[in-house]
Amino acid sequence: MKLETLAIHAGTKITDSHRPAVQPITLATTFEHHEDSVIYSRAANPNRNALENVLAKLEHGKVAAAFSSGNAAGMSVFQALAPGSHIIAPDDMYHGLRNQLLEIFRGILHVDFVDMTDPENIKKALKENTKLVWIETPSNPLLKISDIRAISKIAKENDSIVVCDNTFATPVFQNPLLMGAGIVMHSTTKYLGGHSDILGGALIGKEKNGFWDKIRNVQISGGAVPSPFDCYMLTRSIKTLPYRMKGHAEHAGIIATYLDNHPNVEKVYYPGLKNHLGHQIASNQMTGFGGMLSFLVKGNADRADEVISKLQFFTNATSLGGVESLIERRAASEGPETKTPQNLIRVSVGLEHLDDLLDDLDNALH
Ligand SMILES: *Cc1c(COP(=O)(O)O)cnc(C)c1O
Repeated sequence: MKLETLAIHAGTKITDSHRPAVQPITLATTFEHHEDSVIYSRAANPNRNALENVLAKLEHGKVAAAFSSGNAAGMSVFQALAPGSHIIAPDDMYHGLRNQLLEIFRGILHVDFVDMTDPENIKKALKENTKLVWIETPSNPLLKISDIRAISKIAKENDSIVVCDNTFATPVFQNPLLMGAGIVMHSTTKYLGGHSDILGGALIGKEKNGFWDKIRNVQISGGAVPSPFDCYMLTRSIKTLPYRMKGHAEHAGIIATYLDNHPNVEKVYYPGLKNHLGHQIASNQMTGFGGMLSFLVKGNADRADEVISKLQFFTNATSLGGVESLIERRAASEGPETKTPQNLIRVSVGLEHLDDLLDDLDNALH
């Protein structure tokens, strides 16, 4: 089955005798004991099982675990590591997960943040007890590209697990498990949900091994699991994911080129642009460049805020991946410690008509 077909059919498992065309929402927390049955909804639920099935299929994995947020999914990986383990993580990492490593796991896990655009930096940072190499590509918010194949090869020689945060690319454009990663992570709040109305996360494993069993244990005993309703909503959203991603990427590519040629824009970060540092690697490992881009507006933070305030169709809000365009001055969301440039504007390009989006930007950047 091709991706579009899997997205529509792999999340449906009908057991109801009325044979509804879509899977009903099962709210029960407990189920009568019988062979192969779901027992208790913290451990499993029919809607979650269906969601995990479609997630595993889309990412070419054997197993998947759905969580109540992307951060809960990421945290489960860290919790599954033995105390004292060393982690190599990217210097441009989703700030919420970076903060977990720095604050919640301080003294428990040891982390080095490196620039992963050069795989040599990972080689240099590897230690005997490096258990995990965390990749995020394209990264948030600088759209840095890391070479998944090269990094996985280096990590494998050291017996380190590779986890790739695939939130920006989605399984439509990038399949890290086919390039050597052991686990893929998603904030399903973003493109997989796609309508800015579901909070969720997921891990997908290439195989069911000892480390996966630990993750499943963290998921089930910790209980940071999505509700049946959220699982239903997400399974529904995933059906249109391949078509939404095509639209997002097409719009983002055209807007990136437009911004790149604009006299009031200093720099554009979009992996689809030939002048992007990671363009070559992105072309080798992605089948599309996604719907996220960032740019530096000429001027300071106030000028960036002014541009944002003039926009009509881009809502000034954090998060990304919805059908509605969102924009934000990223440093303001990341707090005072951030290294993100103060005049950096991050855009989640939506599915409104391209002409309306371009006109809007033209007005605001004047
Ligand atoms: C949003 C996001 C997360 C965290 O996900 P939540 O669903 O907000 O908990 C992790 N990684 C990336 C790249 C994200 O964009």
